[in-house]
Amino acid sequence: MGEFIIGADDGETYDIELEKDLLEANKKIALENREFFDKYKIKTIDIMGSIGSGKTSLIENLVDKLKTKFKIAVINGDLTTTIDSNRIEKHGVNVIQINTGKECHLDANLVRKAIGQLDLTNLDLIFIENVGNLICPAEFPLGSSKRIVVISVTEGPYMVVKHPFIFIESDVAIINKIDLVDSMKVKIDDLIKDIEKINPRTKVVKVNCREGKGIEEVIRALEL
Ligand code: MG
Ligand code: ZN
Repeated sequence: MGEFIIGADDGETYDIELEKDLLEANKKIALENREFFDKYKIKTIDIMGSIGSGKTSLIENLVDKLKTKFKIAVINGDLTTTIDSNRIEKHGVNVIQINTGKECHLDANLVRKAIGQLDLTNLDLIFIENVGNLICPAEFPLGSSKRIVVISVTEGPYMVVKHPFIFIESDVAIINKIDLVDSMKVKIDDLIKDIEKINPRTKVVKVNCREGKGIEEVIRALEL
């Protein structure tokens, strides 16, 4: 018995043209966002990853280490809550919340709206926390200078090979919760090999955000 795999053929899906237009429109606004950031000499980092991988913890750690060096703001994407932005605000930075409702990713237009709420003349660095999701954020560039993905060893051994597009899009891949690796059937070296096979240009950094370990390496990988 072999396996039988079903997938849609090109042009088969009803809304495929609509989707193409949508992605094109997003790309255009993302370029405008990037021009805006460049004009004000602001570095922007878009942080992707699944729910619970440690995106917010990473931002908290980065803000603590970098807030004396840079003027920082954070744009936080979440479906309905302000849980993460409340956490980040306690570290003394301005946070803009984007609630996407039913949308499972940020898009360039939402980020443009958030930018409108910030005093760009008084900022050096913006972290953008994407909605917790490993699939469609990859398709929606936001105009950031760098994109990173945060994964954790608790997501199992196949999470990299099952989500290639997010790694193709990412300049830096962060492996979090490395302190928990012994209780998981995961080998960190295998995860790294999987990432390097998909995107040899990605820098991989191992961290334990709960204890603030590896954050300096992240800062170096982000060239901040
Ligand atoms: Mg979060
Ligand atoms: Zn989505």
